[in-house]
Amino acid sequence: MSLHLFNTLTRQVEPFAPLEPPRVTMYTCGPTVWNFAHIGNFRTFLFEDLLRRHLEWSGYDVFHIMNLTDVDDRVIKAAAAAGKRLAELTEPFVRAFFEDRDFLRIKPAHVYPRATQYMTAMITLVQRLLERGVAYRGEDGSVYLAIAKFPGYGRLSQLDRRQLKVGARVASDEYAKDDPRDFALWKKTDAVDEQVGAAWDAPFGRGRPGWHLECSAMSLAEIGERFGVQTLDLHCGAIDLIFPHHENEIAQSEAATGQPFARTWLHGAFLNVKGTKMSKRYGNFLTARDLQEQGVDAGTFRTLVYQTHYRQPLDYTDEALDAARKGSLRLGEFRERLENEDGRRRTGADAGDRLGDLARQLEADVRAALDDDLDSPNALARVFDFVRAANGELDRGAGGSGVAAALAVFDRVMGLFAVLPGGRQVAPELERWVHERLAARDRARKSKDFKEADRIRDELKARGVEIEDTPAGTRWRVV
Ligand code: AMP
Ligand code: ZN
Repeated sequence: MSLHLFNTLTRQVEPFAPLEPPRVTMYTCGPTVWNFAHIGNFRTFLFEDLLRRHLEWSGYDVFHIMNLTDVDDRVIKAAAAAGKRLAELTEPFVRAFFEDRDFLRIKPAHVYPRATQYMTAMITLVQRLLERGVAYRGEDGSVYLAIAKFPGYGRLSQLDRRQLKVGARVASDEYAKDDPRDFALWKKTDAVDEQVGAAWDAPFGRGRPGWHLECSAMSLAEIGERFGVQTLDLHCGAIDLIFPHHENEIAQSEAATGQPFARTWLHGAFLNVKGTKMSKRYGNFLTARDLQEQGVDAGTFRTLVYQTHYRQPLDYTDEALDAARKGSLRLGEFRERLENEDGRRRTGADAGDRLGDLARQLEADVRAALDDDLDSPNALARVFDFVRAANGELDRGAGGSGVAAALAVFDRVMGLFAVLPGGRQVAPELERWVHERLAARDRARKSKDFKEADRIRDELKARGVEIEDTPAGTRWRVV
């Protein structure tokens, strides 16, 4: 079976088909950097991390974009309260977000566009929507999108006209708009915006972008410039973004380009505390820093997250965390055992290569589980089954090439989940550097520049990284 994913647009599990394989463009709505991200946010970023790793494992060439929302109502309010300019407020939280990301072993996106740095793209997009007659200037000087002019409105969130009308009555005190359902693309500047530096000149009036506009403008700018396309392969977030955020992103983008905005929409369920969504607003949140302080390492948190399917709610409890810690430790111990046995018994008797067979089966099982709409709980269950069976084989004295094969497979599978306990994990900066160097070496080898390839091998060795080329790719480890 090939990769199948649940597409919110159709409410069905569908074969995944990118526009121009092997390339996959993936846009994930990033954090609003008015404060630290909480571990609920990170649950979503971890589901997206697994998706990315699995796509890469499956041979896709992923280009991952994650935006940073550094201007919106919350950011402006927080900056004004702190007596700071926008950048002064957001810069430390951007840095903290990257630190937390590395702590949680989330692969960095290829680009992190920031809203404040894409004003030209946003102004151009609004201008285009005005020219096409889909947007208009309201009586209050803001620019709105007329959703009546976009017939596809409501398709993603499956809102029908009746529900939209109910919404209309609730919001009907907003007289500035032609239709209460319309949303702001560009908000006219007020005194607080000026005070914090959230105001830009535009042909349609001095103002600032609406939150929805930011994602449309930045994603279209990134894929348009790089690949000459206007359609994303994947667009992800948690379920709270389906409406209105993603519905509005679709309306703005498609009304401007005439092309489908994203082929597949994926939405993760919430991290809850006692059944309530973890949220800054409810005060029931923990940050990645809190985890670190409590001695919870990334392997434990990742195990916890991946033991629940991304479309199922996950309740955060001490018991669940404790079970995840034990699981992560067991995997770490098993890896250590394999490594020791690998050194000792490389020349030992090959007991019919049962271990190698088990490992190959594991790899096929994990791939099949993840191909089935990222069924990570099933995939991890297979990993634990394998550990039990393989420990049995090792107890019975299995050795030889089977151990080496098992270690290679296990490392590959762990590369997908990155759930091994802390101490045994390579520092994220080193891991990033190694990946970058290996990619450079691959390029050198592809263009037959073997001198450069050897030089990179030496460069890696100088930092204690040993590499081995196998049919399944280059294996590396720190010695
Ligand atoms: P924000 O920083 O509020 O823009 O949110 C960043 C991402 O975290 C978005 O994809 C949200 O949908 C997601 N998110 C917010 N709260 C939770 C939660 N409790 N569980 C899972 N994802 C969440
Ligand atoms: Zn977004």
